[in-house]
Amino acid sequence: MSRQALARVVSEFSDKPFHARQLFSWIYGRAETDLAKMSNLPRSLRASLAERFVIAHPRVELRQSSRDGSVKYLLRLEDGKAVEAVYIPEKTRVTLCISSQIGCPLGCTFCLTAKMGLVRNLTPGEIAGQVTVLAAEHHLAANAYNLVFMGMGEPLNNYDQVLAAFHLLTDLEGIGIAARHITLSTAGVVPGIRRLARENPRPRLAVSLSATTDALRDEFMPINRAYPLAELFASLRELPLAPREKVTLEYVLLRGMNDRREDAHRLASLAGKLPLKVNLIPYNETWREGYAATPLESARSFRDALLDRKISASIRRRRGADISAACGQLAILDPATLEHPVSVA
Ligand code: SF4
Repeated sequence: MSRQALARVVSEFSDKPFHARQLFSWIYGRAETDLAKMSNLPRSLRASLAERFVIAHPRVELRQSSRDGSVKYLLRLEDGKAVEAVYIPEKTRVTLCISSQIGCPLGCTFCLTAKMGLVRNLTPGEIAGQVTVLAAEHHLAANAYNLVFMGMGEPLNNYDQVLAAFHLLTDLEGIGIAARHITLSTAGVVPGIRRLARENPRPRLAVSLSATTDALRDEFMPINRAYPLAELFASLRELPLAPREKVTLEYVLLRGMNDRREDAHRLASLAGKLPLKVNLIPYNETWREGYAATPLESARSFRDALLDRKISASIRRRRGADISAACGQLAILDPATLEHPVSVA
C-alpha cells in the first residue's frame, strides 16, 4: 500500500493522520512486520489493525554466496511462488538487483529467465519487499545502495506496479531511496519508455541492446520485431534527461556475433548525440550451447572503438557467476539440487 492508501485504512481506526505515517515508516523504513513492536502506535490501534490485516515481507528461503561477495536470494511469496534478488557489493556502494515479474515473456535467446516464460507480475509490495528484506539482511541505510530492476522480468511490461513500487521506495517516510539511485532496465518496450518520459520523478533508464542491426536483434531479442532499433532510439531521444544524466546501454558480448569493431561503430552511429554510457557484459557460457564469450582482448578493442567515438564505455566485471546470479541467469532453482531450471508452478 502507498502511504496515501494506508492513510485511508488507518483513518477508519484513528483520527490522527500521523499514525498512518508512523505505520508506513515501521513497515517500509524498518521492515517491521509485528504490529505489537510498533511501540509509538496506541495499543488499541495496533489491536484493531491486527484483527483485520497481516503485514508480510517475502520470506528468505535460500541464500547463495558467491566468492566475489554477491549473495543471491530465493524469496518465497504469499502465494507460494518464488522470485530471485541479488545483493552485489562493489568498491564504494552496494547494488541490489531486484525482479519485476516471475519469469519473463520476452524470450531473449541469451537469457535463462526467458526459459520460464511469464508466470505472473509482481505486486508493488512484492517488489518493494525484495528491497526491505535485502536491506535488512545487510543492514543497509537507504543512501548506501543503488537499486537496479535487472532481475527477472521486463519492468515496463508491469508498468503500473513497478511505478507504484518506485513511489514506495522513494517515499522519504519509508525507505527513501533517491530516484537517481534507481535504474530500470528494459529490453526496449517503446510505449513504456514514452510513458516513463512523462513521469516526474522517474527512475533512470537502462536498455538491453546487444545488437546493432535489426536482423541480429530480431534474433537475440524478439521484442525488436515490434520496436526496431530506429524506433527504440527515437523514443530514447524523447527522454527529458537531467543534466549529466545518461542512458545506460547494456551490451552482452557474444563471440563472432556482435563483437566486431564495425558493430561498435554502428552502435556509435545509432547513438548520435544521445548521452550514453555502454556497459559491455561478458557472456556467461554456462548454460546455452551455440553462444561463446568474447575474449577479453576483443572486448577491449570493442570498448576502445566506442571510446574513440566519444562514447563512455566499460567492461563490466562478471559478478556472481559461480552462483548463477550474473545478468540473464536468474531463474528459479530447485532448492534441493540447485539445478536450473525447474517447474515454477
Ligand atoms: S533479458 Fe530481460 S527482457 Fe529479455 S527475457 Fe531476460 S528478463 Fe526478459
